[in-house]
Amino acid sequence: MIKKVLIANRGEIAVRVIRSCQELDIDTVSIYSTADENSLHAKVADESVCIGPPAATKSYLNYQAVLTAAEITGADSIHPGYGFLSENSEFAQMCFDCGINFIGPSPEIIKKMGNKIESKEIAKLAHLPVLDSITINEVNSELKEKINEMGFPILIKAASGGGGRGMQIIRSFEGLEDIVKRLKQESKLAFGDDTLFVEKYIENPRHIEVQIVGDKHGNLIHLGERDCTVQRNYQKVIEEAPSQILSAKERKTICEAAVNLGKYINYDSVGTVEFLYDLDEKKFYFIEMNTRIQVEHPVTEMITGVDLVALQIEIAMNKKLSYSQSDISFNGHSIECRINAEDPDTFMPSPGEIVHYHRPGGLGVRVDDFIYTGYKIPHCYDSMVSKVIAHSDNREKCIKKMQRAVSEMILSGIKSNIDLHKKVLSNKEFHSGNYSTKFLKLI
Ligand code: ADP
Repeated sequence: MIKKVLIANRGEIAVRVIRSCQELDIDTVSIYSTADENSLHAKVADESVCIGPPAATKSYLNYQAVLTAAEITGADSIHPGYGFLSENSEFAQMCFDCGINFIGPSPEIIKKMGNKIESKEIAKLAHLPVLDSITINEVNSELKEKINEMGFPILIKAASGGGGRGMQIIRSFEGLEDIVKRLKQESKLAFGDDTLFVEKYIENPRHIEVQIVGDKHGNLIHLGERDCTVQRNYQKVIEEAPSQILSAKERKTICEAAVNLGKYINYDSVGTVEFLYDLDEKKFYFIEMNTRIQVEHPVTEMITGVDLVALQIEIAMNKKLSYSQSDISFNGHSIECRINAEDPDTFMPSPGEIVHYHRPGGLGVRVDDFIYTGYKIPHCYDSMVSKVIAHSDNREKCIKKMQRAVSEMILSGIKSNIDLHKKVLSNKEFHSGNYSTKFLKLI
């Protein structure tokens, strides 16, 4: 049984997890750094523990501090949210060693699937279409020969990368040594691993991912796909479900491929299998798997009516999946806009005090956030402060509803990307669905 969950995270996802726990009659513990004393997530849990100074390495990423907080509050389980320790197999192992239930898959699965090179090998074995990889050891004639065979343009990626960081498009060999040297350093610093690899760069892709969920009794289903093509610097800005570019046949193929991978690795939690869909070739390729809840999970919840966090907790309690594939039906369309505290011109974070915050509401509008009027956004964490999620019968109505919602939103005192969302939502190409991941660069 799970009686008390410590949420090893902050901000909107901590609040989101607490809500599901409350509905399941599970007690909650929040942790917070000294910079987050006034964050909503530290106020809405049954108990809150300060675990250290603002720097994430000393607080939210500090294994000992997090585990000590669980120990002193008697939490039997830890929900890691996304980011921070959510895909850290060493931390998951430490939880198990301390007799604490880590709400997620096993440390072995986290480790295997957390490495992009290894997870692609596994996906190949599960018969998923995968873009070939070349691991970069050093820049020499052998590597150049392999790259020539693959053909430019190529993309250099960090094997342990995430959040769109550590990637660079390469269109010729010019300056390759220096680029590799720099990316290795960056990757070591950000992810503790300097392994880089190369894959073919797809010029016009859509980002399509499939939500899967498996239990510890061998049952595994999918909850459809999400389209996360509207991105800036490889980071998602708007997500939606379903994707309007897939035919019924393609949808079936991509969802089945995700289920096949999940079954192949005996996946037993909530997870996402990510693909790129090449618009020119009309082919899709597996790129990576995320073994955690994702930022954009609400759009799936809106069209399926399934609480993914509750499901994740029930699975961690050893319960059998309460849904079979045929129980899942898809209802209408949902869009999520990530509201970031950022400068609209430079896209740099814009922390500071919120002078006035008004959340949109009304039928079919959900807001997942942790901010309020008078709240001071700290400078040390991610700039996403709120997610507006709309749900309606079809895509056009959903866009209209989202336009209404973001127009209703007031977020003053800081700079934000609300105007960017308005611009996208009124864009002709966005309405037609005729765009790739380059969309934001072009508008
Ligand atoms: P991360 O784990 O850092 O989020 P991903 O591998 O999931 O990195 O890729 C993030 C985004 O980068 C994708 O959604 C896509 O826009 C872009 N991308 C990744 N691989 C390729 C590729 N081979 N060709 C073109 N774009 C790519």
